[in-house]
Parts: sequence; C-alpha cells; structure tokens
Amino acid sequence: MAVSITEALDMIYQNTSPVSSELLPVELTLGRIVAQECIAQFDLPRFDNSAMDGYAIKCADAGSTVHCQEIIYAGDRGDMILEKGKAIKIMTGAPIPKGCEAIVPVENVTVVNDRVTLPGGIKLHTNIRKAGEDIKSGTCYLCKGQKVTAYAIAMLASQGVTHISVYRKIRVAVFGTGDELKPHFEKIAPHQLYNSNTPMFLARSQELGCEVRYIGNSSDTMESLETLIRSALDADIILTSGGVSMGDRDFTKEAFSNLGMQAYFTQIDIKPGKPTTYGKIGKCAIVNLPGNPLASMVNYELFVRPLIAKMSGANDYYHGTIRTHIAQDFQIRGNKYTVKLGKFDGTAFDPITKQLPGMISPLFHANAFMVTLPSLSTLSKGEEVKIIPITSNMGRTQQEDFFTV
Ligand code: AMP
Ligand code: MG
Repeated sequence: MAVSITEALDMIYQNTSPVSSELLPVELTLGRIVAQECIAQFDLPRFDNSAMDGYAIKCADAGSTVHCQEIIYAGDRGDMILEKGKAIKIMTGAPIPKGCEAIVPVENVTVVNDRVTLPGGIKLHTNIRKAGEDIKSGTCYLCKGQKVTAYAIAMLASQGVTHISVYRKIRVAVFGTGDELKPHFEKIAPHQLYNSNTPMFLARSQELGCEVRYIGNSSDTMESLETLIRSALDADIILTSGGVSMGDRDFTKEAFSNLGMQAYFTQIDIKPGKPTTYGKIGKCAIVNLPGNPLASMVNYELFVRPLIAKMSGANDYYHGTIRTHIAQDFQIRGNKYTVKLGKFDGTAFDPITKQLPGMISPLFHANAFMVTLPSLSTLSKGEEVKIIPITSNMGRTQQEDFFTV
C-alpha cells in the first residue's frame, strides 16, 4: 500500500542516523557537517579596540581643544592611560587606552600641531568595539549539525582552531536498470537510450557533498541486478532507478528483497513517482527510484536529499519552503498529491508549462518545485504558493537593481 509523502519522510527520518565522524584540519572541512560543539576559548574581539582611525578621548572633553602627543597602532600592547584634557591618536583595531570613553574619527576633528579640537556631544563608547561583542568566550559559535561554510571557517580561524571533528562523507553508489540503456560514453543503436539518471544522481549527490561511485547499468535480469547490488553493499546509500513499476521485467525490488532488504515502503502517494522504495540491507540504505527521469529527480529532491542530509549529520534536514505567488494561471489534474517543477525568480514561481514524467529538460530549467494537495486543481495568477527550492542561487543573466529603498 502506498504511504503518504509525510509518512515516507517520517520513515526516512526515523530510520536514518548520522555516520561516524573524523578529525580534520579546518582547511579540509569545507561543506562538511560539524560533529562537535565549537566553544569559544576567548572573547572576540579579545579586547576593547578602536573601530576607526581617530582619537581616543573622554566625553567630558567634547567641544574643547585637547593635547595629543601619543599614538597607538594596531598590534601595540595597549597599556597607555588617557587623562582628561588629552587625546591619544589611535588606529583601527588598536587597543583602547585605559580611561578612554570614545573614539572620534580623524575626519571629525581639527588638528593644529599637537592640539586637537573635538566636536560637541560625543556619546559614551562611540566607535569602541567591545571585547566579546562578536563571540563571547564560553559560547558555542559553531554547533554540532551545522555546515562548515567559508564563514564558519572564518570563525574557526578567528579562534585559532586547527582541527575539528566532522562527519565523514556519505558514500553513495548509483546504478540504472534497463536492457534499453547504454552508458553515455558508448555507441548506441537506434532502439536504445542513454542512461541519463545515473550520471544525474552521481552529479547531484556530489553537489550535496557525497562521495559517489558509478556502479554501472543492470540489465533486466535478477542475476545482473543481484550482482550489481552485491558489489555496492559497502556504500551508505545505494540509489537505483527503473524496474520498479508493473512491467514484466521490473525486478529491482525483488532483487533487493532476495538479498535481504527490509523495505519501509514501496509506494508513495505522489504524482509523478509513485513506485519508490526505501529500505535497508544491514546498515546500507536503499532507494529505488522510478525510471522516468523527471519522476526520479522529483523523488530524489523530495526524499533522497533529506536522507543524505540526515545521514551527513546535518540538523537542518527538513525541507524549507519559500512563500511566493504563482506567476500565471495554472491547472493541476488534482485528486493526487502532485509535484510541479518551476522557476522562482525572486518574486514569483512560474511552473514549467510542459512537464511529463519521462522528460529531462524541465529538470535543468527548474530551480524549485511545489507539492499540491489532491483537493487543488486550479491556481490563479498571483495566488500564494509554497515552494521548495532546489538551488538557492538567485543569480541573474541580466543586471538588476538590488538596492533596498
Ligand atoms: P522503468 O521504470 O524501468 O519501466 O522505466 C520507465 C521509463 O524510464 C522507461 O521509458 C525507461 O526507458 C526510462 N528510464 C529508465 N531508466 C532510465 C535511466 N537510467 N535514464 C533514462 N531513462 C531511463
Ligand atoms: Mg526498465
């Protein structure tokens, strides 16, 4: 019996746990998921310092002329003391001298020899960067389950961290099934078809941070299927497409069952992509996707992406959505949970007009999809929709005004 989309996702979440972790130099962790709490060992900034090139002053001296004979550079120890009626010239990043209450930028003062005339009304702490205002000592600045981005690396470096514990990469093994299929690097006969699903899933899994393995292509026999499955069982996830519907040679599920797969579900109440299996052989997660490229891609994005995320140790593995408006009137057949691919341009979601389960080109043009309820059959232009992004790249081919007014 078919499970609902929500039930399918719940079974994936409940039956997937993060892989083991490893200690790596920070420079090699980009894109990995952090497996430890990174606790700040000291404040950032470490000490109060100047946010401007300017003059360290006392607020009571605002509006008057003070003497200035000293200067503090970034990198200096910062053991000077500021007295009333005086200023100390200070550079950005230099430690604030004792007794200083504010920094006045160089452009706001008048200097004649060693006499500096200050503007009036200077507020306490102006242009002083306080110790710990960025990261407080003892707090978790990068937590278990978060992704290492360039900016996470900036925080780690700012704390002098050389190595961190991250989850290891997920090993994904992919193969297609079908006697009609040929790999794209071989000669093809007129009645044959290139296997586009396997390269697609290898590439997408790589984009999602996995280590991938091309297993090849199985013919539609139990023997061929079982041989390929056996060769892939050391992977964390085996991903297949094809041979899962009602055809006479659709043996994929049976071959996996013969090798001990415990199936959590074999069908999902979704259009397209109903025949989709999630199961396990030992620790190895198995996903059998449909053969039709669009159907298999949609289910990859909807079910395999969160599976990879959860297994990678990420704590944000649930689908996130964007609320937007539909760009044009749109008809859906209704009566089923339906997935429609489309293009979100930052202001509206434009469903791809022709998208059939066997197509490939819509996959390339789409950057998001919506999942509609069986009760929904028409959407009028401007109606609100929720979409799940496939990519968050919002680049434009034409220059656009990006200023907030
Ligand atoms: P199946 O589920 O095996 O009956 O496949 C459904 C449809 O998808 C058929 O038209 C297949 O030729 C096609 N198909 C299956 N696997 C692939 C693949 N790896 N790449 C491209 N098309 C495929
Ligand atoms: Mg087939």
